[in-house]
This record gives sequence, structure tokens and C-alpha cells, in this order.
Amino acid sequence: MILIAGGAGYVGAHVNKILNQQGYETLILDNLSYGHPEFTRWGTFIEGDLDSPELLDKIFQEYDIDAVMDFAAFTYVGESVEDPQKYYLNNLKNTLNLLQSMQKNGVDQFIFSSTCAVYGNPERIPLTEDHPLNPINPYGRSKLMVEQVLSDYAQAYDFNYISLRYFNAAGADPEAQIGEWHQPETHIIPLVLDVAAGKREDIKIFGTDYPTPDGTCIRDYIHVCDLGQAHLKALQFLEKNEKSEVFNLGNGNGFSVREVIDTCQEVTGKEIRAIETEARAGDPPVLVGSSDKARQILGWKPQWSDFKQIVETAWKWHQKL
Ligand code: UDP
Repeated sequence: MILIAGGAGYVGAHVNKILNQQGYETLILDNLSYGHPEFTRWGTFIEGDLDSPELLDKIFQEYDIDAVMDFAAFTYVGESVEDPQKYYLNNLKNTLNLLQSMQKNGVDQFIFSSTCAVYGNPERIPLTEDHPLNPINPYGRSKLMVEQVLSDYAQAYDFNYISLRYFNAAGADPEAQIGEWHQPETHIIPLVLDVAAGKREDIKIFGTDYPTPDGTCIRDYIHVCDLGQAHLKALQFLEKNEKSEVFNLGNGNGFSVREVIDTCQEVTGKEIRAIETEARAGDPPVLVGSSDKARQILGWKPQWSDFKQIVETAWKWHQKL
């Protein structure tokens, strides 16, 4: 059985559905602080918090857990700057609780949701895994700290992990049973789709004089189901190899904020009012990753390489919100 911490959230829920479709038994542990009970329909669900070592020990004793995936993190960069303690307690301390309980109970396989935010401002594009690690906010630092802990654990103990550095997760389950649903919403695609759906007046473009062809930021959008497939491959890798690895997960293509808005306009057929505003602090102009390592070692290949199709799945889900 696979324990999925944070399995009621956006990425965790998609991974959970895919694992169940592949015949894995899963146990979701989520405190529903940001997750949705509607997303827990596959596998077993326990509402609970990683800050309870007792609960974690109880779970490992009661269920036959082979591997753990950890999605239970806070992910708002701005909030992490204003309230770093919230991020270090949840993203770092609670992950340490999980690792401690795994060790105590003899569970030695871990898959970690990391982020391209561990790189900070890119020195070169596309980003590869050996790029210097200089996160520029507490969110990115909390993720890098866990990666460092994992590396030390793998050296010292009988323990293997895969750390997956996501670029911008996007899109939704093609069956639209689950999708991107953050409260509050800060991400560009769901915000633009809110405008298309008439729930929001306009989208603010954060910065128009970046050194990019159209002056707006460029990001690498990767379909959440492709992230799900990568977790499946990572699990199979750990089952076969006693080895730890770190992989980028991106599409390798960049899209600017204006291109995102144009694509959403095309997919939805709605006029989208965009307003040019100041840049958001801490946004690098371009973040595009190379996923060659995951392609070579995991045999992973994104199936959703067409950005328009990614937005189509997001829109199908968004209309149900
Ligand atoms: N963005 C924007 N307006 C918004 C939200 C985001 O222009 O209301 C831009 C943001 O500056 C970044 C890109 O869209 O360049 C993607 O931002 P998002 O918050 O979706 O993801 P992030 O890259 O921060 O993880």
C-alpha cells in the first residue's frame, strides 16, 4: 500500500487516481486545510495531520505501507515570505515527523514533491538538475532543506528517495473528476479561466517589461497527469533499484503570460480582459526546465506536450467549479 500525504490536494489527488487505476492500493492522509474531501474517492482516506507522530506511528502499524509520497506542503510563495514559520513548521518539521515515523516502522521508500523554486534565479535556461540551488524565498528554501535531509538520510540509513522538482503544474484530469481548485487562487491559468467563466472581472499581468519577446514572464507548464505518470515511474524505479535520484519534471517549452491568456481566450471562446500591472516580487523572467534526466532514467515522457490541450482539460474541469 502507498501512503499519500496530502492526497486531497491538486497534484496528490491526480497521483492518487492514477495509482488506483494502475492497481495500487493507496491510503490518503490529509488534514483538509487546503485539500478537498471530494478528491478522496479513490483508496482509503484518513483525515489527520502530519504534526502528530502518534497518528503517523498508528498508521504505519495498522497498514502495510511500502512507500510514502509527500504532497502535504503549503505552496504560496508570497505567504511564505510573510509567515515563514508556517512554512518551516509544515513543509520541513512535519516532513521530518513523517520520515522519523517511516524509519521507526521500517518503511524505506519516499517520493518527494519538490519544485523548480529550489533553483532561485536561473543562471542558464533550460534548468538542469545540476544548476546551483539558491532559492529566493522561504517556500523554496523549505523544499531545498527537505531535499538536503533526504540526501543525508539516504547516505546514513537504509532509505531511498526520489525528489521530483515540478515546474508549473497545470491542467486537470481529462474526465474532469478532479482538477485545480485552490482557495485562495493565485495561479495564472485558473485565474484567467475565472475571467472566462465570468467569475472575475479581469486578469492582472504581473510585469510587462521583462527581457522576454513580449515582455511578460515565461513559465514551463506541465500537465498534472504527466506529473502523476512520473510518480508512478518513480515508484517503479524505487521498487527495482536501491537508489535515490532527483529529477526535473517540465515540458521543456516556455509560454509567456500573454500566450497563456491568448490560449485561454482561444479555448474558451471568451473575451478576456487583461490589465498590465507591476511585476510581482521574486518572479524570475524565465523558468523552463530540461527533463532529459527523467526521460532517460525513468523512461518518462510528457503525453500532454501541447499547451492548448492542457488548457482544454483545465477548462473542462473549471466549468464544473
Ligand atoms: N501571473 C500573472 N497574474 C496573475 C498570476 C500570475 O501575471 O494574476 C504570472 C506570474 O507573474 C508568473 C506566471 O503568471 O510569471 C505564473 O504564475 P503562477 O502564480 O501561476 O505560478 P508560479 O510561476 O508563481 O509558480
